[in-house]
Amino acid sequence: MRIVVTGGGGFVGSHLCEALLRRGDAVCCVDNFCTGEPANVAHLHASPRFRLIRADVTVPFDVPGPVDAVAHLASPASPPDYHRLPLETLAVGSHGTENALRLAERHGARFLLTSTSEVYGDPEVHPQPERYWGHVNPIGPRSVYDEAKRYAEALSTAYRRSLGVDVGIVRIFNTYGPRMRPYDGRVVSTFIRQALAGEPLTLYGDGSQTRSFCYVDDLVRGLVAMLDSDRPGPVNLGNPSERTVRELAELVLHSTESASRIVHRPLPVDDPARRRPVIDAAVEQLGWVPRVPLDEGLRHTVAWFAARSATRSAALPSPVPVEA
Ligand code: NAD
Ligand code: UDP
Repeated sequence: MRIVVTGGGGFVGSHLCEALLRRGDAVCCVDNFCTGEPANVAHLHASPRFRLIRADVTVPFDVPGPVDAVAHLASPASPPDYHRLPLETLAVGSHGTENALRLAERHGARFLLTSTSEVYGDPEVHPQPERYWGHVNPIGPRSVYDEAKRYAEALSTAYRRSLGVDVGIVRIFNTYGPRMRPYDGRVVSTFIRQALAGEPLTLYGDGSQTRSFCYVDDLVRGLVAMLDSDRPGPVNLGNPSERTVRELAELVLHSTESASRIVHRPLPVDDPARRRPVIDAAVEQLGWVPRVPLDEGLRHTVAWFAARSATRSAALPSPVPVEA
């Protein structure tokens, strides 16, 4: 297959590109690197089946050659990123999704939309099955992301119903792993960076809010299974093992053997109090279950962060003398 991955230069996208190349597909990654990093895909250029196109998908775009599937991942995803890029986030969820859908329609290709557990907002139903419609503040600080993804789901569904595009929607729950940016502001990357640097871990609120953390390799298996199927979804993809954020902080301290302390910071507005996916649909329709437990996934992630900071410090250029 030849698969276009929008947002392929980001955290999840780069792992997806890698997995697709590994099984023999050709991959065309389209990214403007507003939150991704060229370094995430630098190693993939060694494959003749990999192509990178730097483009903003909010502007209509095409790719040369055949297209069998479009995996649409382009969107800022971390709360600090979408707070910094509110209009860009709305634009990529709306115009960007429509341009990616049109590409799929032109080529008769499968279309995978990576939606999010944020469509459930601060959920009043727990755990969250796909049939739950959600509890989203349409004008709150998170709305630029939540509503963009809800619109993207509506748009993709309309393309399926009225134009027959082979759309599949997944709703991804909190995912972590190597290639998260140390300063992306997400909780796993932030706690690991702080713990490794011996800085205090910033726990928002009292830390009793919960999340369900899925290791990136597990998520990518689910994305590939959905790409290969003809299911419309939506299908939740996440690890149902629910943890408080305080518990996560303690696990990170243990995993890094760090003596950092925990400090409290105010809970952000509209921060969801709890989140856990019902994954029956993924199990039944895709035969998917997450396999990597949190302590093991954290070990891999910590090792990657530690190696990255060691390489970065070793690679720091010596100061260049200023010429008179
Ligand atoms: P990320 O920020 O690392 O990756 C997103 C990528 O999209 C980046 O490379 C960015 O440069 C690119 N991008 C953004 N706007 C673009 C545009 N207009 N044109 C071209 N490229 C653009 O985030 P991620 O964690 O890898 O998330 C990937 C997808 O998965 C997103 O759609 C996100 O909403 C979804 N998702 C992720 C999680 C998670 O926990 N990681 C949870 C739910 C949903
Ligand atoms: N969080 C925290 N400290 C941080 C960053 C985040 O306690 O330094 C909390 C945040 O308030 C939320 C949870 O961790 O309750 C997950 O945050 P993240 O931004 O990773 O994801 P999301 O809120 O989108 O689930």
